[in-house]
Amino acid sequence: MTKFNFAAFALLTGMLGSHAAWAADTWTSTTGVLNAPVVKYSDSRFYSNVTAVVGSTTSAGTTTKPSSVAAFDTYDSTTGVLIIPEVKVVTTSGSTTYYNVTVKLSNITSVGGVCGSADTCAKYSGSAPFASVLAQTYYTSALTSVTTPATRTRYLISDSATASSTAANFLSIGSTYSATTGYAAEGATIPTSATYKTYLSKLMYLVADSTTATYFRLDSHLHPNQSIDYDSADSNKLKFRNNFGKASTTYGYIVFSYDSTTKLLQAKKRYKYSYDATSYKATYTQDTSFAAADYYVNLTSGVYKLVSGTATATKFYLYNSPIDFSIPTDFNPTAGTYQTNADAPFKYNAQAQRSVVEGTAGSIYRSLSSNTDYLNQVKTAGSDATTKAYADAYLAKIKTTLASAGTTVGGSLRYDTSVYTAFRDSLLASTLASDTISDGTPGMNLVPYVYFTNDLINGVYHPFMVIISYGNGADPHGLRDVTRPPGDGTGTSGYAGQGVTRFSNLDYYAKKIPMKDYGVVTTPTANTMATTLWGDVYNSQSSTVQAANPKDVLNYASTADNGIMINGAVMFPAYSNVLQYSQAAGELSVNGCHVGQGGGGPHCHADGYQSGRGIGMYNDNDYLNKTHPPLIGFGYDGVALFGRYRTPTDAALLGYSTALDSFGGHNHDSIGYHYHAHTATATATTTGPSAKTYSYTVRYLIKGAYAGAINGIPGCVVAGQC
Ligand SMILES: [Zn+2]
Ligand SMILES: [Zn+2]
Repeated sequence: MTKFNFAAFALLTGMLGSHAAWAADTWTSTTGVLNAPVVKYSDSRFYSNVTAVVGSTTSAGTTTKPSSVAAFDTYDSTTGVLIIPEVKVVTTSGSTTYYNVTVKLSNITSVGGVCGSADTCAKYSGSAPFASVLAQTYYTSALTSVTTPATRTRYLISDSATASSTAANFLSIGSTYSATTGYAAEGATIPTSATYKTYLSKLMYLVADSTTATYFRLDSHLHPNQSIDYDSADSNKLKFRNNFGKASTTYGYIVFSYDSTTKLLQAKKRYKYSYDATSYKATYTQDTSFAAADYYVNLTSGVYKLVSGTATATKFYLYNSPIDFSIPTDFNPTAGTYQTNADAPFKYNAQAQRSVVEGTAGSIYRSLSSNTDYLNQVKTAGSDATTKAYADAYLAKIKTTLASAGTTVGGSLRYDTSVYTAFRDSLLASTLASDTISDGTPGMNLVPYVYFTNDLINGVYHPFMVIISYGNGADPHGLRDVTRPPGDGTGTSGYAGQGVTRFSNLDYYAKKIPMKDYGVVTTPTANTMATTLWGDVYNSQSSTVQAANPKDVLNYASTADNGIMINGAVMFPAYSNVLQYSQAAGELSVNGCHVGQGGGGPHCHADGYQSGRGIGMYNDNDYLNKTHPPLIGFGYDGVALFGRYRTPTDAALLGYSTALDSFGGHNHDSIGYHYHAHTATATATTTGPSAKTYSYTVRYLIKGAYAGAINGIPGCVVAGQC
């Protein structure tokens, strides 16, 4: 069950009413929460839907409306000072509007998406980065208790039989990352001012021991590379240690038993972790000298440790996760069984290392050294006010250059510049908020560089948005929940003998999104593609077979990625290379993604949005105060991808009643042709004596074929790779 603290938002949304009231903030006395529709931060980026707690008021402003009112708030992240042009103060006895108020914020509780300009925040906001989602308000008093835990399930572990007790301490992973020692295990309460991070840092993923099913390991949900171990040199304290990555120091993990009668957690065995630095194969061997076997877990003053007898053992109570992270039925429609194959080894991509890519000695900086306009956009990796100023200025220049060069040599951009700005700034805001990549470092930029180019190619301008990405989303990858992950192609006994992809690794993508308006096609085959999913299956077949299986939007598609998402992961067509929906094979995570046979980062075949879940790549919060669903990706044809229209919630949004065409796109309100994530019903069948047919919902990102005309784009799209 999922519950959201949307009361404040609902109230504010209602009070804002029409979008004409866009600029005004609202402060509600009953909640103490300030909602600012648009805020310009000190890094020069615009954010939509910022909510915050006001610490003090520096200047109360005036109730007389000035002759002009600025369209957005301005926030200085160093001083915490927010300048508000207009705020409606709502109390139980009514409301009053104040102008030019200056306050100091004590806490920013929620940050929405990044947007391209103050004017377009309602229309073109990217979905909020995962690091921002973690800070968003979330609280539930309705935790449900569990007597007997199940494997591969997430629980909260408390020292209180009453979950809603404000004194209840929950086992939590600490906030401070150390490459050598991992994270602390600490007890923490759940305040009513909780955020998603409050809960996610307390979710433990229980995994049954391979030999004794009633023993289980405790992995952190937020940082899935980390499992609970103990430190014999530090009073037998429990600590989170890296057991699923290329750690600089390796330790191991403990498996526990849980007695549902006595409520005691007992350490039963310990495994030592190591991986081969050449093959990256991980191994876990039992620690035969584990001195604290059969010890119990004790919690004292927030510290967990192992103690030798029941006298000082602490009783623990288990609660279900309030947020559902299990694989939705749509991603395993035939109810396939969980595959227990060995894990495929980690991968190492020499090109995907930050020391190779980033900095003035890095590959990107050096490759652009002869062009000052490009170089200025990559002088600093990630979000940066200076590179942003250069990028914004150069994008504006591209627009005027194209216009003044005329239709043959120049042309026009496909979208308003604020669409590209929102996408660029959102990508650069994607930082790894989870220890979930085998060779990733929490906090690192997942998309170090995005820059705009406008080269004359054969005498014609061809502007691109170039994206350098490590190919991973910022949130826990969820690959260990996947029912039937891709095999790694090893061995000779088919799938059963293969390792399967349950880990993520740093990847490297240099992608070029064409920004010029090259037009659209109305049939997929109007675009020339060197390789397609259709061709892979039917090129070698007879003309009769080919004629019986025509090319269409689903199969006349890239054999690899067809676009990139706003978090830096790439997206693939809805079909797999056997022309079946990837969803039907039960091979996707809760996010709609998986790691392919070759390893690397997860790519996504399906839209992971779930109503009410709140913690996907885009969420209900990303629709608040918006006139169009959030920006979530771009196809390599240059066509933007927005989130789905929720039915009937989004009936008032622009384009809701403009039908999507067979490509999943439409055009309305002068936005320019664009895609939307959307759904359709489909059936999946199983074979054999008990063959059955299952109905499910396909959740499309970009379906497959390109709707954008690609034949005029120099280079990469036609060849299938950009
Ligand atoms: Zn795939
Ligand atoms: Zn639309």
